[in-house]
Amino acid sequence: MSLTHDAAQPQPTRREKNAVASRSLEALRGFWCNTGGLYSTPTGQQTSRRGTTTLLARWVGAKYGQWVRISRSGVDLVRIALVASAALVSACAGGGNKNDGSDHPVMDLVPRPSPSTEDPSLAKRKYGAPEKAEMPRWAPASPTWAFPLLTDHGVRVDDGGQGNFLAPRSHGKHNGIDMLAEVGTPVIAMCNGKAKSDDRGGYGRIVQLVCPVPGSISGGDADLHVSIFYAHLSKTSIPKAWSRVKSGQALGLVGKTGNASSPRISAHLHIEMIVRASEDEALEETHSGVNPKAGAAANAFFDSLREGCLEPAHLTTQTDVRRERRVDPFLMMVCAGRAKPDITAAPGKLQGAQAKWSKFYKSPAFDVDRGPKPLAKSAEGDD
Ligand SMILES: [Zn+2]
Repeated sequence: MSLTHDAAQPQPTRREKNAVASRSLEALRGFWCNTGGLYSTPTGQQTSRRGTTTLLARWVGAKYGQWVRISRSGVDLVRIALVASAALVSACAGGGNKNDGSDHPVMDLVPRPSPSTEDPSLAKRKYGAPEKAEMPRWAPASPTWAFPLLTDHGVRVDDGGQGNFLAPRSHGKHNGIDMLAEVGTPVIAMCNGKAKSDDRGGYGRIVQLVCPVPGSISGGDADLHVSIFYAHLSKTSIPKAWSRVKSGQALGLVGKTGNASSPRISAHLHIEMIVRASEDEALEETHSGVNPKAGAAANAFFDSLREGCLEPAHLTTQTDVRRERRVDPFLMMVCAGRAKPDITAAPGKLQGAQAKWSKFYKSPAFDVDRGPKPLAKSAEGDD
């Protein structure tokens, strides 16, 4: 590269760069699509994607060295090679006429600056994914919670309604999630805490469990507690007064009590979670149908949940993550949960009511249906 030459040259315009890239593409397409695959060199030697890109860069560099001198650096050259590679992938993979690229647009081969960080209209994509190839796998840092059922059949979706968080209901919005499960399926304490049972009208037989919010998503507020509400149970072994329970302990069995007794509603566990500032507040939480307001502590919790889990996990939901101080229970299962049972086909008459988690949640960093898997050898300690 000739710096003295460069100093006299103006920077190439985007149009000029595009013209060079276009010529490179035209020249490359001929041999590239016909050498037995994008990941073979012209001599037939297999190479990696990285190797292919390097090869392209060298080839363009040798052919269009003049432009390298103009550009003063290899950066633009590499960008051209990358864009040309991508264009060739689509040109070859498209199955069109390999010798005639006339239908292939060669405009804007030099990418415009990415708007992703500047454009405020894209702010709502704040959990949005980088490109797949760049996305590392994600799993919670210190998972402690158990899955609330011994099986996973996903979400109830049937004539009685959709079981996802904040789904429309005659009374407003669904305050929890409906986990599809056969009557008699054991229901599990998700965490160490205090539990009591009750009979609650439309909710049927319930167990309420109060636990500390795990440190990884509590934002350092050790007083934060979550009240977990398991509804429509058929049986429970938990007394009506508060007593201590251990994570993983069976609390009862899935049933069809309360308004889940309708034949239009498939058997499920209705589970909801409310975050409160202290254990005392959580023990007083009634999970009444009205929409309880969030306090400052709950608001701070949602910031921690976002920063500590939802953003690093690139986890997005079809609805809001919260309704005042109620949190979407599936998010808590992901952000605090140990490995869950694999999702399996629902048996018998539940079959038609089964929706996968991926209908409502997305992440490019883990499989939302299978749940995040430990990245390293996990400590499966019983806490
Ligand atoms: Zn429900």
